[in-house]
Amino acid sequence: MKPASVIVIGAGVGGIAAATHLAHRGVHVTVLEKNSRPGGRCDRFSRDGHHFDSGPTLFVMPLVYEAEFAALGVSVHDVLKLRQVDPTYHLVFDDGSQLALTSNLRSMREQLEAMRPGSFEGFLRYLDEGHRHYELAMQRLVNRDFRKASEFFNLRNVPLAFSLKPLVPHYSNMSNYFDDPRLKSAFTFQDVYMGLSPFEAPSTFSMMSYTELAHGAWYPEGGMYQVVEALFEIAKSAGVEFRFETSVERIETNGRATRGVILADGTHLPADAVLANADLPYVYDDLLPDRDLAAEQSRKRFSCSTISFFWGVDKPYPALGPHTLFIADDYRQNFDSIIGHLTLPENPSLYVHAPARIDPSMAPDGQDTLIAIVPVGHMDEKGGQDWPALRDRARESVFSRLALLGIHDLEGHIKFEVNYNPLSWRKRYNLMKGSTHGLSHNLMQLGYFRPSNRHPRYHNLYFVGASTHPGTGIPTALISARLAATRMLEELNL
Ligand SMILES: Cc1cc2nc3c(=O)[nH]c(=O)nc-3n(C[C@H](O)[C@H](O)[C@H](O)COP(=O)(O)OP(=O)(O)OC[C@H]3O[C@@H](n4cnc5c(N)ncnc54)[C@H](O)[C@@H]3O)c2cc1C
Repeated sequence: MKPASVIVIGAGVGGIAAATHLAHRGVHVTVLEKNSRPGGRCDRFSRDGHHFDSGPTLFVMPLVYEAEFAALGVSVHDVLKLRQVDPTYHLVFDDGSQLALTSNLRSMREQLEAMRPGSFEGFLRYLDEGHRHYELAMQRLVNRDFRKASEFFNLRNVPLAFSLKPLVPHYSNMSNYFDDPRLKSAFTFQDVYMGLSPFEAPSTFSMMSYTELAHGAWYPEGGMYQVVEALFEIAKSAGVEFRFETSVERIETNGRATRGVILADGTHLPADAVLANADLPYVYDDLLPDRDLAAEQSRKRFSCSTISFFWGVDKPYPALGPHTLFIADDYRQNFDSIIGHLTLPENPSLYVHAPARIDPSMAPDGQDTLIAIVPVGHMDEKGGQDWPALRDRARESVFSRLALLGIHDLEGHIKFEVNYNPLSWRKRYNLMKGSTHGLSHNLMQLGYFRPSNRHPRYHNLYFVGASTHPGTGIPTALISARLAATRMLEELNL
């Protein structure tokens, strides 16, 4: 009998991993990718011996990578050379004080007690809560799907409404552990990855700072793109077929099913089922006919975007650790500007990555490769955002923040600059509104409320990736891939 055929739209992390799961079960899978290489947002480029991971730079939640690679039939440690990055981040505050977040408790004690006596005890209690949130959330919300409302709204889940503190804003919860505003921000800034302000994010997200400290942040030798290279090899060995520079124009539908896709050049490719890895709101808006469902998606909340700078620099900057985060004093106003007003804060918090500190092969000898990421609001439908002006202001903010570390001469040593803004993110990966993390992770867009891995009308159209269940990030995309593929195999009897 001819094997069932599935078309996957997009070779992002979720698309590649889901394709592999399906191929392992004997399905004939073709992945269609508009760009010339796999990876989607987990992308890279090189110039003059400088190598840049243009999307993810942090390998966090290592236990999820271990479990998900194992589910794909390989050990993550056989295909990636992982090194722990400790301290994970160097935090630099506007008053010049610094905190190196590390898994070394003795060092944390010394630093925290020097900053605010008594705060180490609060830190230990906070870690304890983060641990509870991590275990419960992973088991009961992230690592499973909700195919029916009753799987989410049931008596067994009632205690989660208390134990995970979903209704308590993360930042106000910090008062139970710390007095110092710097420490409240040191353990909540990760919420921005979810597209949220800590002033509204559920306290559940203490799980993120917990996993970074308890399980560590890691670095795959050669950079984050090695994750994609590894997944791509696994997929090819499983028999997945890839077609690059192949853009899908439309998903063909006939009332309650999809019959395949139409490519940009008009070719019709039939399939028994379609799995869309391209970002979900874009799929509804551009590839499907139902305007009501597209409008529903576009009314949802989207995560922020970034203005990212990639600099090849003619001298090394050893004062910069691998991951430096500059946290602004006006912490709340930062999130209000980005999320509420869709713009760049006056004094933005920002992140600088120096991969050559961990892996010298990322820059030519005696030089440096620097990436600066400045969070900014996503594209405003009404327009009116002056991206060149915002880019210039963001660049000045990076330079002035670096001065806090005694770096005053970077501008004169930049050999070349590449920069991305929300328009670039939209163009490269079809991300609606240029939103780098897709749909936001507020309470009404989590768990059962997050778009599920299957289309509500077309029974053989499925979704995988950041804007679907369970959410954004590479580890989560790997989980999403397993959940989507399992559901397809079970429901379609492939
Ligand atoms: C700046 C930035 C920093 C990040 N930092 C981190 C981090 O440190 N750690 C972490 O874990 N995660 C991070 N993330 C998030 C992570 O990159 C994403 O959540 C993850 O890569 C999303 O994968 P995905 O499966 O949703 O696929 P995507 O990456 O969205 O890939 C979808 C693919 O579909 C393709 N496509 C779109 N439309 C079509 C079409 N019509 N036809 C054919 N192909 C199409 C796109 O080109 C793309 O290749 C970051 C993201 C960004 C942008």
